[in-house]
Amino acid sequence: MEAKGMQMLQKENGHKLRIGIVGFGKFGQFLAKTMIRQGHSVIASSRSDYSELCNNMGVTFFRDQRDLCKERPDVILLCTTILAMEPTLRSLPLEELNTSSTLFVDVLSVKEFPMNLFLEVLPPECQILCTHPMFGPESGNIRWAGLPFVYDKIRVSEEGICAQKCNDFLAIFESEGCKMVEMTCADHDRYAAGSQFLTHTVARILGHMNLEPTPIDTKSYETLRHLTEAMTGHSMDLYNGLFLCNANAMEQMEKLERAFDTVKNELMGKLHGMVANQLVHRVSDPLFSGSSSSSFKENNLKIKEREK
Ligand code: NAP
Repeated sequence: MEAKGMQMLQKENGHKLRIGIVGFGKFGQFLAKTMIRQGHSVIASSRSDYSELCNNMGVTFFRDQRDLCKERPDVILLCTTILAMEPTLRSLPLEELNTSSTLFVDVLSVKEFPMNLFLEVLPPECQILCTHPMFGPESGNIRWAGLPFVYDKIRVSEEGICAQKCNDFLAIFESEGCKMVEMTCADHDRYAAGSQFLTHTVARILGHMNLEPTPIDTKSYETLRHLTEAMTGHSMDLYNGLFLCNANAMEQMEKLERAFDTVKNELMGKLHGMVANQLVHRVSDPLFSGSSSSSFKENNLKIKEREK
């Protein structure tokens, strides 16, 4: 093919990236499948040994992070748990990378925390893109079309090779039909505390109630049970991270507690008022006054007498 034709084709399909995934758990593997299908080359490193699995997937696995960095990937994609990101990033041998042309990306479910960490640990020439695909191996199992992909270009050049790498990386999700949402990390965390963290919290509370199926389940109850199962299937590491590393999570927890108290107090208050009213009326009814010792049968007789 002529050089010009080749360039056109590359522009249409985006350039192929060499992506180094650090942390090859469920989510890293899930993303790698689509990246490989799209023709990108994926290399990986993780705390555990995924050599065999990688072999089957067409991913090159490095037991040692240094060896992964020596391959000089275009993108270092951090897919560790939220709490493991700091030790993992700090242990990366950055001297092996061409830092000025490497794009650092994360996919953590909180965003201000990895952004601050990247800015603190990485040298100023490193390019940084913070992302959160708002889906996972279950919800994005069949396709990603219409699913939100949040991103914030923290430090990405306007033009040049890194700008291109960033566009190519985003194109992975764009070309699958994701709903691309550019948003600051702070806004993401504010929204996510009120949606994702809240959902996980309610599901965990219900999880402690061991909701059982009954022969008369309503659709709404089935939804509750389904939500509980889906959310409690996520690791406690994820939930801890959602709470500890999002400054807005505590406020949501307190709001939830206050809301529960409000509902309970309203209900108790109303019922207490009704019952107390009835009791007070009975006691102040002349028919019953002084009748604390009278039997139920005697009271019924008095009522019948009055009704005559
Ligand atoms: P996961 O299956 O628990 O995998 C977590 C990864 O972190 C694994 O690669 C694990 O390494 C590594 N890790 C855990 N503790 C570590 C430690 N102490 N030191 C070094 N590495 C450690 O979780 P996941 O579902 O893949 O999620 C990974 C990230 O993606 C999380 O930050 C999560 O917020 C984000 N995310 C997940 C989803 C989702 O639906 N799953 C969606 C969007 C974003 P080994 O496996 O080698 O032990």
